[in-house]
Amino acid sequence: MTEKRKVVFSFDDGPNPAGALNTILSTLQKNSITAEFYVLGSEVERNPSAAKSIIARGHKIQNHSWSHPDLAKASEAKVHLELKKTQDIIKKATGITATKVRPPYGAGGWPRKHDPELAKVARQLSLSIHNWDIDTEDWKAPRGIGPGKIKHIKKQLDGNKTKTTLNVLMHVQIETAKDLPEFIRILREWGFLFAKPTS
Ligand SMILES: [Zn+2]
Repeated sequence: MTEKRKVVFSFDDGPNPAGALNTILSTLQKNSITAEFYVLGSEVERNPSAAKSIIARGHKIQNHSWSHPDLAKASEAKVHLELKKTQDIIKKATGITATKVRPPYGAGGWPRKHDPELAKVARQLSLSIHNWDIDTEDWKAPRGIGPGKIKHIKKQLDGNKTKTTLNVLMHVQIETAKDLPEFIRILREWGFLFAKPTS
């Protein structure tokens, strides 16, 4: 028997909007799925209790910068400010120290092509750099994970047979929250298991 393939869900740009986050959290709970959330420091500052609810439901909270700039084009000082401020606000809001960073747009974060300033600052802050394997493109119009997106996701899943666990990128937004139960059903139908995110 071949080993079952696995996916890990990651949600970027949260924790706001709170309505979308809450719907996503309850869908994950219903399906016993643990996910990771790459949050923006500025959004955590606006809504610390939303950040707390991610942790309260047993998920991981990670660093996605303060204000979503292209860190590959930013100076070392700017990269440091973006990531450090976000570490601090996550810690203040949740008591958790984030262990991973996902740079906005994935810029500078692809393996073997890490942006040097980003790599240096990440090391200083004890953060490992993580992009994704499967892009749901849920941010593209029409937003969410409708049939057009599913087709594209299937192609990516079929095209990536080297890894046993694939990280699937989504965003905290209402359309994704709405489509998530059906997306989970489809992934199960395709034979995927849901893995817990690594620390
Ligand atoms: Zn983002």
